[in-house]
Amino acid sequence: MKNKNSTKLFEEAKQFIPGGVNSPVRAFKSVGGNPRFIKRAKGAYLTDEDNNKYIDMIGSWGPMILGHAFGPIENEVRKAVKSGFSFGAPTKKEVTMAKLICDLVPSVEMVRMVNSGTEATMSAIRLARAYTGKDKIIKFEGCYHGHGDAFLISAGSGAMSMGHPDSPGVTQATANDTLTVPYNNTEALAQIIKKNKGKIAGLIIEPVVGNMGCVLPNDGYLAFIREICTKENIVLIFDEVMTGFRLAIGGAQERFGITPDLTTMGKIIGGGMPVGAYGGRKEIMEMVSPSGPMYQAGTLSGNPIAMSAGIEMLKHLKKHKDIYKDLDEAGLELATGIRKSLKELEIDYTVNQIGSMYSLFFTDKQVVDYETAKTCDTKTFGLYFNKMLEKGVYLAPSQFESLFLSTKIDKKLIKKILKANLESLKEIK
Ligand code: PLP
Repeated sequence: MKNKNSTKLFEEAKQFIPGGVNSPVRAFKSVGGNPRFIKRAKGAYLTDEDNNKYIDMIGSWGPMILGHAFGPIENEVRKAVKSGFSFGAPTKKEVTMAKLICDLVPSVEMVRMVNSGTEATMSAIRLARAYTGKDKIIKFEGCYHGHGDAFLISAGSGAMSMGHPDSPGVTQATANDTLTVPYNNTEALAQIIKKNKGKIAGLIIEPVVGNMGCVLPNDGYLAFIREICTKENIVLIFDEVMTGFRLAIGGAQERFGITPDLTTMGKIIGGGMPVGAYGGRKEIMEMVSPSGPMYQAGTLSGNPIAMSAGIEMLKHLKKHKDIYKDLDEAGLELATGIRKSLKELEIDYTVNQIGSMYSLFFTDKQVVDYETAKTCDTKTFGLYFNKMLEKGVYLAPSQFESLFLSTKIDKKLIKKILKANLESLKEIK
């Protein structure tokens, strides 16, 4: 596979951009090799600067649930551009977007639009603090909630892949206010809450984790969390930046039947544009400025072009709810196929999957938390990743990321992916 143009661009990029990329995990640092510079994407495929074509299993890290350059979204963006790029004043589209989100996610009675998932989570914890008058927050080891200071403690995703789960630059005072607990461990959570009684403002969790690879909550785990948060007056924040509008139209909260107090969103709601949102119970949301005293703002928040893309995305998902059944079936077919190949090759690796999210973990352990995720053989994963890439399948360049299916990955493509998977596993065995 030729890679001349990407290699040249990467060398040039490294002179002007730290590590040559604008988000760390894009750099292929944990899997080896040079990143591919992408020049276009359509449907299920990415095309790089050397004209290599890949089946995309990342979907821009989640947003592209309908595949790339989805026609109706493209049309809405084209129309919106003609009316101006940004007004810095309210628009009808923001009202439409807010109503759509509140309609599709019943726990969200009011919502504030921002520009990224990071902004959404940072704002949500500030709001939890403002609402409760308490300082500490709980997060789970291996969960990633964006790059806000409070979250870069035992963080997942790129922070975990690059070996910096605790980032320098986060002050000790901030770190002291973030309590971390292992995922899927009810006892550890109960203990930390007991030890810090009356001090915890909020608990933020990925209801299904995508950022240490795909990790599912144990049966009853989210219900336990809901109950203890209610009892202890802790604001329960579901970070649905990844799972929102992906695991069901109403997100993981719909799928598991648990109602959080606040929800953070991003990725899919922007249809590929830079969008985030946080919302929840009216009583809490009314504390946000200018309705209340908790300050949060944004020059480009609710941007009309981004809103046009997001509205069209959500309208389409609302109209075609059968998409979720199809994605569930496709996810299961892929996971079952990978498990079959592993059995055939007598390899003991673990596959976690729910709906259109899945991970193949290079470990024989059941992956239920940060510690078990860290047992993965990341070196062999890197070899596998590069074999898959050579065969035209673009996986996330890290063991600690979930993969995402789009509606454009049909049965024929699943067969292709499974063939590449079997061959790659054979080649590295
Ligand atoms: N929360 C979760 C669960 C995420 O997966 C991410 C990003 O991957 C974020 C928050 C941060 O979102 P963004 O990268 O848009 O700032």
